[in-house]
Amino acid sequence: MKTLLTEAEIHTGVLNLAQRLSHRYGDTPLTIVGVLTGSLVFMADLIRQLHMPLRVGLVQASSYRGAVTEHGELAINTSWLPQIEGRHVLLIDDIFDTGHTLAAMIGELTARHPASLASAVLLSKQGRAEVALRPDYSVFDIPDAFVVGYGLDYNDQYRNLPYVAEMEPADLEQGKSEVPNDE
Ligand code: 5GP
Ligand code: MG
Repeated sequence: MKTLLTEAEIHTGVLNLAQRLSHRYGDTPLTIVGVLTGSLVFMADLIRQLHMPLRVGLVQASSYRGAVTEHGELAINTSWLPQIEGRHVLLIDDIFDTGHTLAAMIGELTARHPASLASAVLLSKQGRAEVALRPDYSVFDIPDAFVVGYGLDYNDQYRNLPYVAEMEPADLEQGKSEVPNDE
């Protein structure tokens, strides 16, 4: 595995995003909605740099994509989503790859009539987008490689690495999963 982003680089990037968000929202109450499971580490670090009145909600995305393959059929669980009607909402995800997850989440949240809705991701993979929409905030652009760490998994492992690393293609098994995997 090759380190792509060090702990220090991620820390600086997250601080920078927090500053941009503070500038945008000021003291306006904000509801942060994180997409389970990959956004957990990013969200935990980001919210501790934000000082407006803050609520946290979660949504779960699962897909049949297998460990690395192209996006599969997506299932969204909104059981842990608080009331967002009339609220300012910031959707948080780990990585923008094909963009289907973010697009589906934005559809789910928009239908609930928030006062405003913006999206932020830690990573954007270059040259992979299959949707017209882009995240409003993205901390790092990365090349088209499979990455793990800082919340991102390979077969449910490596989410706890404090840095982001690139997996060697030889170490990755392709193929679609028979069961939905938590993103
Ligand atoms: P999208 O719907 O944008 O294609 O994919 C978003 C989801 O796919 C992410 O939340 C993440 O779970 C997964 N994903 C996409 N690329 C990567 C990657 O390079 N590494 C890991 N660990 N997950 C990825
Ligand atoms: Mg995943």
